[in-house]
Amino acid sequence: MTAVPQITLNNGRSIPQLGFGVFQIEPKDTAEAVSTALKAGYRHIDTAEMYGNEREVGEAVAKSGLDRADIFVTSKLSNDAHLPEDARLAFELSLQELGFDYLDLFLIHWPLPTRYDGDFVSTWKALEEFYRDGRARSIGVSNFQPHHLRRLHEETEVPPAVNQIEVHPYLTQDEVRGFCAEHGIAVEAWSPIGQGLELEDPTIVSIAQRAGKTPAQVILRWHIQRGDIVFPKSVTPSRVKENFDIFDFELADGDVAEISALNKDQRTGPDPDKFGG
Ligand code: NAD
Repeated sequence: MTAVPQITLNNGRSIPQLGFGVFQIEPKDTAEAVSTALKAGYRHIDTAEMYGNEREVGEAVAKSGLDRADIFVTSKLSNDAHLPEDARLAFELSLQELGFDYLDLFLIHWPLPTRYDGDFVSTWKALEEFYRDGRARSIGVSNFQPHHLRRLHEETEVPPAVNQIEVHPYLTQDEVRGFCAEHGIAVEAWSPIGQGLELEDPTIVSIAQRAGKTPAQVILRWHIQRGDIVFPKSVTPSRVKENFDIFDFELADGDVAEISALNKDQRTGPDPDKFGG
């Protein structure tokens, strides 16, 4: 089976660079989708309290016959639970739903500048507790802009291990990625294939034809070569396998640059500086 590269986080722990995302997978379909992914070789699952399918992720992990230690599982704090006492309860509930005694990675899902008086610092301090007591092996953030990260840097102790942000060829996020690289924060690219919208882009299609791979594989490979962590989502078994089969070819530097040049700062999701959950 193909070896997925591991990325070493700023706390020394490693994360598989390719995983499987379960956003918008109905709870009734989640255990089967995750089982398909684990059988295909994925060892990293990205879920969230707000996806409503943690229980089914946990079921698939338990049924897989694999050691818990061999699967990297991430979840994220609900936007409704930023107050530290709520965050503590929500984290415990996440563990309970998943049936785990630890999470590999737990994230603040959104910075929410218009809620909680813009305070995500006390929320982060609650995550630091989970990190220190070992129930979260790593902690991180999602959808944080450089000014949010700077504030954590100034006011808290444990630096985020990752920042999970929207990245795809039409939204290359040079500024946030640059900041993260400078500060040792790994970037996780959500909606890596732009929720499917970029698969017909003529540049991507032509590079895919030359490489003898599919457009989805080319875009995922572009992320891997840029060093980001990805977890595409699909409930179609053939696509789940296709998205995993990206380690037997390499894009030339020119192809990587050509894909990066497609950037038009086009989001598919909300703007983190405005989103209120
Ligand atoms: P994605 O870019 O992974 O695209 C998923 C869509 O593309 C699916 O609906 C599927 O129909 C299609 N697709 C997948 N593989 C394909 C293939 N090989 N060929 C053709 N079509 C294919 O989008 P996503 O699900 O939004 O993002 C992936 C993961 O990122 C999520 O599941 C979730 O874990 C995470 N995420 C995080 C946030 C956040 O705020 N932190 C937000 C959105 C997503």
